[in-house]
This record gives sequence, C-alpha cells and structure tokens, in this order.
Amino acid sequence: MNLVEVLEGIWNQILEITSLFVMPDWGGLIGLLPILIVLGLVAPFLTFLALGTAIYLARKPRVRVAFEEGPRIAEIGPGGEPVFPVGLPYCRRDALIYPSGTHRCDRCRDHLAVTCPMCGLGRSALVDTCSNCGLVLKVKSRAVVVAATPGPKPGGAAAA
Ligand SMILES: [Zn+2]
Ligand SMILES: [Zn+2]
Repeated sequence: MNLVEVLEGIWNQILEITSLFVMPDWGGLIGLLPILIVLGLVAPFLTFLALGTAIYLARKPRVRVAFEEGPRIAEIGPGGEPVFPVGLPYCRRDALIYPSGTHRCDRCRDHLAVTCPMCGLGRSALVDTCSNCGLVLKVKSRAVVVAATPGPKPGGAAAA
C-alpha cells in the first residue's frame, strides 16, 4: 500500500461523510412529506385556536368586570320603603343591593339579608337554603343569577 492509495482512501471517506450532509436524503424527506403537510395544515389551525383562546381570555375579564359591580342602591317603592329584588343579598339599613355571593355590607359591615325567590321569606344571606320552602340559592352560580337579572343597561338611566 503506497501513500497515494492511503490518501485516496481518506479522500473517499471524506466524500462519503460530506455527502451525508450535502446530499439531501430525498427518500427520507418524501417519507416526512405527509407529516409536513399535516403540520402545515394543523399549525395554522392551532395558531388560530390559540389566538382565539387568547382573545377570548383577554375579553372575558372585561365582561366579568361589567357584572362585578359594587352594591347598587335599592329603588324606593311606592310606600317609601326600599324594594329589594328576590334572590339577591341586600342591606336593609343602607338600602343597598349586593351581587350574589356577598355576605356582608361594605358600608355598615352588617350581615346581609336575602329574600327567597320562591316563597318571599327573608333570611340571612349566609344561609343558602330556605328554611320555609327548602329552595337552595346557589351563590356560586353567579353567572346564572346575573343572566336572570337584567344587567347594567348600556347608556340607560341610572336609578337614583
Ligand atoms: Zn349596610
Ligand atoms: Zn323559600
């Protein structure tokens, strides 16, 4: 074995190794093609999904803030007495109506009362089951309670 043969052997090995990197493995690429197509179709879909979720999450708190208002002043009925809607906690002393789930008055720190939507009996807002008719007022499902009552009217006249 002379020097030229050794050099040729080394050169051939170098060519073989470089061909692995330079020459694309078309067979392997074609095998990957379905995956690439699926990725090309799925990736935009996932992107839109993520975008939609992000937009939804970004807008959601704004909707919640609109509902999560502080106490509102009860309307005064014809008899001069404040009228409290049924099913919502209220403070009789300050004539304030609180969102569902509130237990204490922000102003006088007193326990709130609630009127049973079914039988009209008043009780403490801490008690979620009516002692008279047994109706359970679910304080956790605020969205349901809010949906049942008309929300703040856009541009509507404020009750005062
Ligand atoms: Zn109060
Ligand atoms: Zn009741």
